Amino acid sequence: MEFDTTTVRGKSQPDPTTGAIIPPLYQTATYVLEEIGRDKGFDYTRSSNPTRQDLEEHLAAIEGGKFAISFSSGMASADSCMKLLSQGDHVVCCDDVYGGTSRLFNKLMSNYGVKFTYVDSQDSSNVEEAILPETKMIWIETPTNPLLKVTDLEAVGKIAKDGGLLFVVDTTFATPVFLRPLEFGADLVLHSTTKYLSGHNQLIGGAIITNREDLFEKMKYIQKSVGAVSSPFDCWLTILGLKTLHLRMERHWENAEKIVDFLDSHPKVSKVIYPGHPSHPMYEIAKKQMSGFSGMISFELNGGLEAGKKLMNSVELCLLAESLGAVETMITHPATMTHAEVPREERLSRGFEDGLVRLSVGVEDVGDLIADLSQALDRV
Ligand code: PLP
Repeated sequence: MEFDTTTVRGKSQPDPTTGAIIPPLYQTATYVLEEIGRDKGFDYTRSSNPTRQDLEEHLAAIEGGKFAISFSSGMASADSCMKLLSQGDHVVCCDDVYGGTSRLFNKLMSNYGVKFTYVDSQDSSNVEEAILPETKMIWIETPTNPLLKVTDLEAVGKIAKDGGLLFVVDTTFATPVFLRPLEFGADLVLHSTTKYLSGHNQLIGGAIITNREDLFEKMKYIQKSVGAVSSPFDCWLTILGLKTLHLRMERHWENAEKIVDFLDSHPKVSKVIYPGHPSHPMYEIAKKQMSGFSGMISFELNGGLEAGKKLMNSVELCLLAESLGAVETMITHPATMTHAEVPREERLSRGFEDGLVRLSVGVEDVGDLIADLSQALDRV
């Protein structure tokens, strides 16, 4: 089946008992046994649930993977990956990783003796040079949140393979419509399904996809032990969202390209960052490994922090909100919102200025969006 068909249909068939075209929502905690030792494949929803299983098969299919596990959030997925590690292990991580991920690593995992080295992975030799004898994992986000840095997955996949290291890739910003890291040697692919995959700002969720049965079994065991499961209702809503993922992503991309052109020629904008624009330092790699680009744009304004705040408070149609990847256009000031806990010096050292603005372009009429940004920029 072609990708678009898989995206719409997943693996599910119409419900055999009723013919319902949409998979039923099994909103249940437990399942009645026929007799001791004989169940119908399910015993308790923390272990598995038919609606969650439906979603997991759908996610695995569109990612081109054999196995998927659906979690209660993107961070619960990340935390479960961390539980593959032991005290004394070391992780090489890209420097512009999502603020919640670096908080998990630096503030929680460090208490358990796991160490992290952050490198600019746009140059893959930085990843190689940071590897220590105790390194067990390479953690890459691409494109990153919020600087939209791009890592050459083929190059880093080879480094991971040569070193026998676990290779985790968070591609929340790209989605499997545009990038499938398993094809480049990733062991585990992570998504915050809160974002594009569910797509309508309706839930918090996460997922891990893998081709490795050993890792799948370990992650299932971790999930069952800690209970970081997504609710049947959230799984069901995510399935509905997935069915239009390919259509939404095309429109996010189309709208974003027009907004990039608008911002790029605006006198109050000093820099536009978009992996699909030739000015991006990793444009050639991005073009090679991705089949398109999402609605995520970052830009800097002349006038720094004050200008950024003024813009945030002047938009009317674009919504000032923390999240991204939904049908509504959302605008964020990462330094004071999503990445407020990242120390300022650390932010500046990786090129993340106070006035950086992150735009998650939705699927509204692009003329309306440009008109809104234009009036807001006039007030800056
Ligand atoms: N990974 C990336 C790239 C993100 O942007 C986010 C959240 O913004 C997460 C992971 C965490 O996902 P969640 O908010 O679903 O826990």
